[in-house]
Amino acid sequence: MPTIPHPEARLLAQAPTGWTFWAWEMPLTLHHPWTTARDTSHTKRNLVVAIERDGLVGLGEAPPLRRYGETPEGCWDAAKALAETCLSIPVWGYRQFLTRREGVQDYMAAKAAVDAALVDWHGKKAGLPWHALLGLAGAPLPLSSFSIGIDTPEAVEAKVREADPYPILKVKLGGEHDREIMQRIRALTGKTIRVDANEGWKNPHDALAMIRFLEDMDVEIVEQPMPANQIEEMRWLREKTRLPLIADESTYAVRDFTRLKGAFDGVNIKLSKAGGPQAAYERILQAKALGLKIMIGCMIESSLGITTAAQLGGLADYLDLDGHLLVADDPFSGMTMTAGQPVLPTGAGLGVSPR
Ligand code: MG
Repeated sequence: MPTIPHPEARLLAQAPTGWTFWAWEMPLTLHHPWTTARDTSHTKRNLVVAIERDGLVGLGEAPPLRRYGETPEGCWDAAKALAETCLSIPVWGYRQFLTRREGVQDYMAAKAAVDAALVDWHGKKAGLPWHALLGLAGAPLPLSSFSIGIDTPEAVEAKVREADPYPILKVKLGGEHDREIMQRIRALTGKTIRVDANEGWKNPHDALAMIRFLEDMDVEIVEQPMPANQIEEMRWLREKTRLPLIADESTYAVRDFTRLKGAFDGVNIKLSKAGGPQAAYERILQAKALGLKIMIGCMIESSLGITTAAQLGGLADYLDLDGHLLVADDPFSGMTMTAGQPVLPTGAGLGVSPR
C-alpha cells in the first residue's frame, strides 16, 4: 500500500501496480488583505496534488483562478478527472500529460498541479532538479519584483517601506488613487517600478493618459493596462508609448500568441494559467519565437507553486515570483530569495520540502 502523503490527503485515483494520486486542501493566510483592480482576499484555499509510485512522491499546487470561475471544489473534481486520465502514463512518458489534459475542460490550475506533480516525481526518479533536466542548470535567474497591492495611499507608503529589501517593486494600479499612489511611492524611492493595472483602465484614452503619466514617473514596464479582449486597442496604445507593455490576462483570452505580436512587447506566463510547467515551457518557447519578452509570474501560492515556476526562471527576462511572501503560514520551503535574487533549491525534482 502506498504511504498517505498528508494527514488530510484524499485519494483521487489509483492503478494497483502503478501511480497513486492524492490531493488535499491547503488553506493559506495572508499577511495583509490583498487587493487588485478586481477583488480583495484575506485567505486562499489552494489544492495540493501528490503522485506516489516506487516510494517517491511528486507534489504540485493548484491555486484556483477566481477570475475564470474556478473554485477549490471544482479544482478537486478536475484533479480527480485528470488523475484518472494519467493512470496509464508510463514512467518517463510524462509528456503525454499535455494531450491527456485536453480531455478535461477548463481548470487550468488543476492541470498545473497534476503536471507539476508529474515533473517533480520524474525529477526525483532521475535524481536531478527539473531545471537541470531541461538543460537550464547554471542559467542565471533575473531579480524578482515584490508586489504592492492596491490600498489607501497611506497604507501603500507603509507597504513600500516594508518592501525595503526588494530592489524592484510591482505596483498594482487600476484603483481610485492611481496618480497619488505613484507620486507618493516615487517620493519615497528611486527603485525600479513595474506597474500592473490588471485590466483596470477601461478605454484606450484613459489608458494612454495613465501611461503618459507613468512615463514621467520613470516606470519600467506596464502590465495589462486594458481589458483582456481589447487587443486592437492595445495595438493603438503600443504605438504611442515607449514603455514596454506586458500581456497577462490577454494571454488567457487569446490562446494564440501570434495575435499578441504588435499589441504587446511581452507576456506574463503563469503556470496556473498555462496549465502546468510543461505547458508553460512550451508557451515560453512560442513567445520567444515571436520576439516577445518573457515574464514568469505567479498567483498567491505557497513555496511549492512558486518554486515550480522558478524552475523555468532561466528562460525569463522578468520574474515576478513573490506570491509566497504574501503568505503567513507557508507549509513548504524551496526557492529562497535574498534582496530580490531568487535561488533555486538543489534537490531533485522541484526541490520542495515540507517545512
Ligand atoms: Mg498581472
